[in-house]
Amino acid sequence: MLTILEFPDPRLRTRAQPVERVDDALSRLIDDMFETMYAAPGIGLAATQVDVHRRFMVIDVSEEKNAPLVFINPEILEKQGAQTYQEGCLSVPGIYADVDRADRIRVRALDRHGQPFEMWADGLLAVCIQHEMDHLDGKVFVDYLSPFKREQVRKRLAKAAKERAAAGGADADEQRRHTI
Ligand SMILES: [Zn+2]
Repeated sequence: MLTILEFPDPRLRTRAQPVERVDDALSRLIDDMFETMYAAPGIGLAATQVDVHRRFMVIDVSEEKNAPLVFINPEILEKQGAQTYQEGCLSVPGIYADVDRADRIRVRALDRHGQPFEMWADGLLAVCIQHEMDHLDGKVFVDYLSPFKREQVRKRLAKAAKERAAAGGADADEQRRHTI
């Protein structure tokens, strides 16, 4: 299980570098990221969130958790329409807020075997891809909120972290992993 960085950790602001080689080490990391994401539980996880500053992410928006998707060096080629979705983030536990994004996107990436592919995504999958790609650019969804709301989020998270610390160190880590 990997540790997920939490807002306002400055490492979440790192702009990830392109993946140069799709090798066994990357494959193992992808497996660990899926395991961490499913356990959290979450529907997407960008490498940035586990302190790996390379451009890839894992996603599974299916109910049954049986449709894993891997995007390596993803690019958005086209955007259509607009949608508003109440987003949450494993790096900002317990906080949900409306974010406006494109409704439909065409994405190009490499799959986990290093093979290029292109796809159209809409609805929740489109939200998730755009959210995870933001992480690779050092952006967190709370950046879309007003400065006042963002400050409220920061205070709420600081208070929660203090309570966890008071509850005991070892437990605190365990608890954090299971929060969404
Ligand atoms: Zn996120």
